[in-house]
Amino acid sequence: MSDRSSYAMVNQYFDEGAELVRLKDEMYDVLKSSYREIAVQVPVRMDSGELRVFLGYRVQHNGARGPYKGGIRYHTSANLDEVRAMASLMTWKTALLDVPFGGAKGGITVDPTDMSPREVEAMTRRFTLAISHILGDNRDIPAPDLNTNAQTMAWMMDAFSSRYGYTPAIVTGKHVDLGGAPGREAATGRGAVYVLEGADRKWGLDLSRQRVVIQGFGNVGSWAARELHQRGVKIVGVSDVSGGLYSDAGLDIPALLGWASTHRPLADATGDFDAVTNDELLVSPCEVLIPAALGEVIDEDNAGQVQAAVVVEAANNPVTPEADKILHDRGIKVIPDILANAGGVTGSYFEWVQNVQRFRWKEDRFNAELAEAMQRAFNVTSAFADAHSVPLRRAAFAIGIERVARASKLRGYV
Ligand code: NAD
Repeated sequence: MSDRSSYAMVNQYFDEGAELVRLKDEMYDVLKSSYREIAVQVPVRMDSGELRVFLGYRVQHNGARGPYKGGIRYHTSANLDEVRAMASLMTWKTALLDVPFGGAKGGITVDPTDMSPREVEAMTRRFTLAISHILGDNRDIPAPDLNTNAQTMAWMMDAFSSRYGYTPAIVTGKHVDLGGAPGREAATGRGAVYVLEGADRKWGLDLSRQRVVIQGFGNVGSWAARELHQRGVKIVGVSDVSGGLYSDAGLDIPALLGWASTHRPLADATGDFDAVTNDELLVSPCEVLIPAALGEVIDEDNAGQVQAAVVVEAANNPVTPEADKILHDRGIKVIPDILANAGGVTGSYFEWVQNVQRFRWKEDRFNAELAEAMQRAFNVTSAFADAHSVPLRRAAFAIGIERVARASKLRGYV
């Protein structure tokens, strides 16, 4: 486990990209730090009658290219440092996808999995009102992330709208009945698969002969699994927080999706597979490894044992810089988070566009636009990487940094 902070790790990637595009010192200082960071107390009356005070954060990293955009996570790891790191990633991600948003992230340091729905709702409403003065459909637009979902977004939208008037575009990732976009829920996992298909074409992977392992079976992991299964790709390993399952012959993905849809832990599932721990899963035999749960799961301790030829970062920041170097030296290709999981924010952009225009797209249009955006981003990134002989991550950061620097310059930030 690395003892460096998440923000320090993301900044190492930023520094490598900034060096490649020869970012000027003044611009470097503006782009490296966050524009605004707030921490708020979130008091919640628990069902037991006890009052608990949680800590919530919202970090707005850079808004040169549009309103701040980024998810809200409820997790014990969600502190100011982690949220700051994720906000910075969002800035480079939105720019890389050429989506007209800036970067932000938010979170509450909490484990919501043992809270009642009423407690989570009360916490969400309190948090939303506490940060509402810096939110807005043209200012800062949250979305779901770890342990938050369409219901969380509905509570956020309702709390905000009760103070400022009906504002569906204040959050994305909403239920379709509240102005959500058909296709958005699947967009991150599906987008990761579109990018993997781009890599398949470029590198000649022959996906139909690959064995895939996916860590995390929540929104992103389960959609990636469903999409790959539909394409006939063999998924040999999956996991959630309770543990993992592995079968070299391939797992029965529809059965496991059905199992997980009723919120049952994968560790309790039965079938023709071996139970493995999450640590074992990451280093089990496969050609494609898709971490789709937490950050920093591949570090200097396990990077040497990863057996995959390609790592698709569906989670944010799953590979530490030390591990990134080990994977690179071993010839393992890494498709970086700001490219691989950008389907989420791209889909959020499509939802926001529909909300502000009060006009609904059909899901086919949503998916076609998403596929085009992801493929374009993969092609631009891989062409840049080839032209400069650098890994995809460095290319992706460099492209994002250049675009944000141009907008920041035009707006007179520097
Ligand atoms: P989620 O809460 O829906 O699912 C998380 C999954 O990870 C669950 O299966 C959970 O059991 C598992 N998990 C939790 N702790 C774990 C542990 N210690 N070991 C192994 N598995 C564990 O969250 P999500 O929305 O699917 O997000 C997953 C990742 O994708 C996060 O890193 C998130 O930042 C990133 N991401 C999500 C989106 C999105 O649109 N939801 C967009 C971009 C990036």
